[in-house]
Amino acid sequence: MGLDQQARALAAAGRNIINLTAGQVDLPMPETGKQAVQKALAADRTGYVPATGSQEVKAAVRKRMGWTEGEVLLSAGAKPLLNAAVACICGPGDEVILPAPCYTSYPEMARIGGGKPIIVLGDPKDDFIVSKEAIERHITDCTKAILLNNPVNPTGAVYDREELEQVVNVCQRHDLYLIADEVYSSFVYERDFASLYSFPALRDRLILVNSASKTYAMAGLRLGYAVAPAPVARAMDAYLSHALGCPCSLSEQAALAVLSMDDRYEKEVLSVFRERRDGLCAALSEISGLKVKKNAGAFYLWLDISKWDDDVSFCQSLLEQQGVALTPGSAFSCPGYIRLAYAKDLSVLLDGAVRMKRFIDQNYSNSSGVRS
Ligand code: PMP
Repeated sequence: MGLDQQARALAAAGRNIINLTAGQVDLPMPETGKQAVQKALAADRTGYVPATGSQEVKAAVRKRMGWTEGEVLLSAGAKPLLNAAVACICGPGDEVILPAPCYTSYPEMARIGGGKPIIVLGDPKDDFIVSKEAIERHITDCTKAILLNNPVNPTGAVYDREELEQVVNVCQRHDLYLIADEVYSSFVYERDFASLYSFPALRDRLILVNSASKTYAMAGLRLGYAVAPAPVARAMDAYLSHALGCPCSLSEQAALAVLSMDDRYEKEVLSVFRERRDGLCAALSEISGLKVKKNAGAFYLWLDISKWDDDVSFCQSLLEQQGVALTPGSAFSCPGYIRLAYAKDLSVLLDGAVRMKRFIDQNYSNSSGVRS
């Protein structure tokens, strides 16, 4: 059983659990989106919509995202779009490069799509941002695509323009597709976010995926959007029509409403998460031996606990002893680290930090890693 499930089971049994595993925004979705769902339901808009979305909603996505070229596709979240992209690009034996640590589902997506995941681990001293040289060392005749997430789940790192440019160059030089997952694009704290769509040279090899899940706190409504070159988009449309049918008609209407808003909601959410991050980092830096660095994006802290224990045992013992659930780095192809999702009220996060301090003080007699 995963840590998240164990935490839920313990909470259901009455224990006071602080569950910081969930990668989803805990704030309400925009009111206008809720009203759009209610209106669509009252108007009996409960039939099928086109396989990859209605024209009016696609047009709203295009306008909001600034996607002037390429074909827009909608589906039930970012996940099916990423799956479809891999499946439509890869044949048996084809390789997909995964800069890592990476989202838990990526290696499985590569396999489900018929390809082979090739994990390329970044260097901790560069916040795990993967260099051009590291990627090139893993390119073979079978390499078909790079699947890049930016901002990065689980590290919270953000590739800047120069770093993205390196990846773009590799794709051009080696004739690769770039599947880009930008679902955390609205969670960048200290600087502007550079989307891969802003590299015109990449357009005929870029499949760019985003979704309403994080940006508008609509993860359960399942509405994602992508832009892809026409031939790939046609294949993805066929794949999704057979695999999934179509997006949810009500969620489409919610998306139409929220995508037509200005960016006030996104800014408010970001400021709540910035305050949480800053408060939590200040509290965690009181823990002796723990190195805490503020993340530049998403809503994750990525902490090195390798000198104390292996990541799975650390998370297991922390949950058992102090009732705090975190995710082991192994889930993201990077043992030795833990991921903390700060999608909870600051008071809960601060309680979590106190418990983590107690856990570390009680179990590890000194910061050099000796279990007491
Ligand atoms: N990509 C990444 C990097 C994610 O973290 C998540 C959700 N945790 C997803 C995709 C899935 O997004 P969606 O809910 O839109 O399918």
